[in-house]
Amino acid sequence: MYEACIGLEVHVELDTASKAFCSCPVKYKAELNSCVCPVCMGLPGAMPVLNKKIVEYAVRLGLALNCSINTISQHARKNYFYPDLPKGYQISQGAKSICTDGYVEINGRRIRINRIHIEEDAGKLIHTQKETLVDFNRAGVPLLEIVTEPDIRNCEEARLFLETVRNTAVSLGISECRMEQGQLRCDVNVSVRKKGDDALNERCEMKNINSFSAALRSIEHDVARQLEIVKSGGSITRETRRWDDIVQKSVLLRSKESEGDYRYFPEPDLPPIVIDEEWLKKIKTEMPEPFLEKTERYKAMYSLSEYDAITIASDVNYGLLLDTAMKHGADAKTVANMLLGFISHIVNERAMETAQIPFDGKSLAELSILVCKNEISYTAAGKVIEIMFDTNLSPQEIVENNNLGQISDETALEKTAKAVIEKNTKSVCDYKKGKMNALGYLVGQCMKETKGKANPALVKKMLEKLLEEME
Ligand code: ADP
Ligand code: MG
Ligand code: ZN
Repeated sequence: MYEACIGLEVHVELDTASKAFCSCPVKYKAELNSCVCPVCMGLPGAMPVLNKKIVEYAVRLGLALNCSINTISQHARKNYFYPDLPKGYQISQGAKSICTDGYVEINGRRIRINRIHIEEDAGKLIHTQKETLVDFNRAGVPLLEIVTEPDIRNCEEARLFLETVRNTAVSLGISECRMEQGQLRCDVNVSVRKKGDDALNERCEMKNINSFSAALRSIEHDVARQLEIVKSGGSITRETRRWDDIVQKSVLLRSKESEGDYRYFPEPDLPPIVIDEEWLKKIKTEMPEPFLEKTERYKAMYSLSEYDAITIASDVNYGLLLDTAMKHGADAKTVANMLLGFISHIVNERAMETAQIPFDGKSLAELSILVCKNEISYTAAGKVIEIMFDTNLSPQEIVENNNLGQISDETALEKTAKAVIEKNTKSVCDYKKGKMNALGYLVGQCMKETKGKANPALVKKMLEKLLEEME
């Protein structure tokens, strides 16, 4: 039996207003080479100055991912030549990273994080039919790189780890992590070994993968490739490969012999980053609640299921709606159901952002209370929500204007139930024969008759009573 050892290097592009070491703006869609200056172009004599926001963002992420925050860390130059790197080196961090020794729990297993360090992005090459062009707008955009230990064992764990990193970064307000815009990219390192072995075997690395699914496919593919070699008596050589997601294959880029020697050395133009107690405390108190903490709080405080808690916590706006609703006396489960049911359905259907939802948690609380008090049915709440997306009426007003109030009046319900029993003799027979789902069908018919307004619990009781009375 073999197992895979997978280590990820995840790059998160930070949502700062300006670049890491100069005042050029960070813009995703700007005229080519319009956001550049002597510093990010690496002109002689230009001096970098660190954007403080990056330190705060790195500390937020480090705290959220259980890292130690180092009081003193240092920038380092990573030297290599590539046309998208104007300075001929990348400012990164070497031996002294800002955050070290963290972990994330995935399905009860700990994935250790070796470090999180600050670095700058490179420019972008644009390949046309005839030539290759370069756009330096991205050169110098701040990145955080999260480097895991090779503790990930399979694609599922890799997926959960990547989702946790993304949800965490988004919850901390440090990055939107839009993969299609390259704000989250990863390198995948894979080796295989006999189960039970402690030592790691030689690995392969696949660089610059820019979608979750491509990362997972590249892992699956390379684990299979390595297993085949190992099982037939061969051995793995250290390689850097490029994952081609179109043909679903990895191709050799370079072997260990040609692996770059980056000649890291401390960046002489930047002082060490020093984080004193006071600054650390300020960052801690000001940072938004991280995704994992929020998930735990939703489970503990609101008794939400793991799935509901994760799904709501992974969207800042859903989280805010839920928390506000709870402050106004809502029922958590009802609100969670409405968020993940009616509301997310409309958001998807209309291709909206959750930030554009036009009502607040207070209205949701009001609506959930109407449902809990049986004043409207849950189905009717769906209709109320639809109207809430298009007007700014309150749930109560919508219920009144549209006559959506639930029928709990026994005489009215009895009439409906009797009519349904008369019309559905076959189901009545089935019920008498002991087919319990016939009752569900009859309840459904009553709901249909009343356009979803009947109180389903009362209808069920009423039907049972009437059927009992029949012989
Ligand atoms: P390098 O300095 O060569 O980039 P690192 O030690 O920094 O190497 O590791 C880079 C990434 O590769 C980390 O995510 C680490 O977990 C992973 N890694 C290192 N060795 C192995 C291995 N034998 N198998 C799988 N992943 C590995
Ligand atoms: Mg590396
Ligand atoms: Zn610049």
